Amino acid sequence: MNYAEIKYCDIANGVGVRTSLFVAGCRHGCPGCFNQIAWDFAMGKPYDSSVEDEIVASLEPDYVAGITLLGGEPLEPENQPALADLLMRIKRELPNKSVWIYSGFTWEELTELESRAQTAHLERMLNCCDVLVDGRFEQALYDISLRFRGSSNQRIIDVPASRAAGEIVLWQGDEILAKRSSWQ
Ligand code: SF4
Repeated sequence: MNYAEIKYCDIANGVGVRTSLFVAGCRHGCPGCFNQIAWDFAMGKPYDSSVEDEIVASLEPDYVAGITLLGGEPLEPENQPALADLLMRIKRELPNKSVWIYSGFTWEELTELESRAQTAHLERMLNCCDVLVDGRFEQALYDISLRFRGSSNQRIIDVPASRAAGEIVLWQGDEILAKRSSWQ
């Protein structure tokens, strides 16, 4: 796997201060994609164990809420093995850190429909994932006012709650944050 960039202290892609890993490679081809350069699996730099160590170390401070995986497409089959290992290590060594994944695959494509994302590693990734922002970017549904997503078809999904319920449970944190800011 290659990666395009690691952003430390990122506050745009999930709640709190996060480490965001932008991986290389995406086949969705959404018109208007914000990061077309990352469609190429060969762009960027090779991801190896020293990069993994750096990412895990960056999560250690108390002020860092967790990790966000985005891209590119973290759930392309080529990217899943290394990312599943990374997430399992984070959950083992730093279990209080949250995991967000941005994917062009929909929840349905990951859980019930056939898709190329369904590999032997997908379950390991979903087991470690707290929040999934799902679905391809739809230019016609682009809305700058949306928090943590680009177009209104994309959903912010509470993964453990959805898996327990057997249906999509939307993440409630955004509502809580909105209430908090209206109190200020
Ligand atoms: S899924 Fe994301 S990275 Fe891939 S083409 Fe769509 S917007 Fe771009």
